[in-house]
Amino acid sequence: MLIRVVGAGICHSDVHVWEGVWSSTGGAPRRLPHIQSHEIAGVVERVGGERVPDAFREGTGVLVYAWQWEHDDMFTAEGLTNLSDSPPLSQASTRTGGFQEYYLVPPHYRYLINASGISDLAAAAPPLTCGGLTTYRAVRKAAPYVRPDDYVAVIGLGGLGGAYAAQYIRKFCPQANLIGIDMKESAVDFVSSITPPLDSHIVPPHDGDVLSSIRAETHGSGLRAVIDLVGSGTLSTYIRALAKGGIYVLVGLMGSGKTDTISPPGSTVLLERNISGSYVGGTLAEQHEVVALARKGVIDYRKPVTARMPLDDAYAGLQALHSGQVLGRQVVTP
Ligand SMILES: [Zn+2]
Repeated sequence: MLIRVVGAGICHSDVHVWEGVWSSTGGAPRRLPHIQSHEIAGVVERVGGERVPDAFREGTGVLVYAWQWEHDDMFTAEGLTNLSDSPPLSQASTRTGGFQEYYLVPPHYRYLINASGISDLAAAAPPLTCGGLTTYRAVRKAAPYVRPDDYVAVIGLGGLGGAYAAQYIRKFCPQANLIGIDMKESAVDFVSSITPPLDSHIVPPHDGDVLSSIRAETHGSGLRAVIDLVGSGTLSTYIRALAKGGIYVLVGLMGSGKTDTISPPGSTVLLERNISGSYVGGTLAEQHEVVALARKGVIDYRKPVTARMPLDDAYAGLQALHSGQVLGRQVVTP
């Protein structure tokens, strides 16, 4: 199937690939030059196989699932398509992406999600594929641990998905208290302008004690769940704010490269704290769920998209993200 691309998001993973930091983990592009972007929305231009179902005809709006496994294994059999070993990383790093006018879908329509009912298809690319899907999986992992009046924190409110994570927490933990944590006041303001307001926020002092701020905000009870979208130098600090039986979900992959340690590990045992990873993106089933939520108007997928740009400006968009100038999400509209 050939897709005419209408929107291709710029993700922080694209910056990592551009810098070459994934080369050592098998995440290098299969060949150079490499066309980036794994957040793709488009319209079916041409159908090449008779076995493609009627849900995908020429002119159908679609979103592309980025974790395109090639061979079934025990993980994909369980529905954990994002954990497949073939390939071990998403199309983000290894395959041709969406910064082009037309995108040829790898040979199976299962990677496409029918986007009927999604009115702004270009804007849907980042929030409904990698950016929003990543935070959706993390919040769904944390939600069963959260009781009414518990405290839930999102660390890192900027580009990856603070605006999406906050919306999902409001939806799946509706009686929880939501705390936003970010070094930048502007990121706090940005998320607050999109979601129902945060219950509170913390801008960690550079030399101060963020744990005492959390203790004060939670009236001593600590955080029942943490969604860590930074994941670099944060775990060692914020795990100490996790309440008994709480869950810490690590999402951010490659922040500043700082090392994290848990010290002392005994408290994790004594307090039965849970630590979980949530690998970027999510399963194919979760991909369908996210699109269904957007279709029903449960989440605002448009507002977090703060810039649209022509294909020629994709490189400038990457540079802006690299230099920390971007709040929200940028989308290239070939
Ligand atoms: Zn991504």
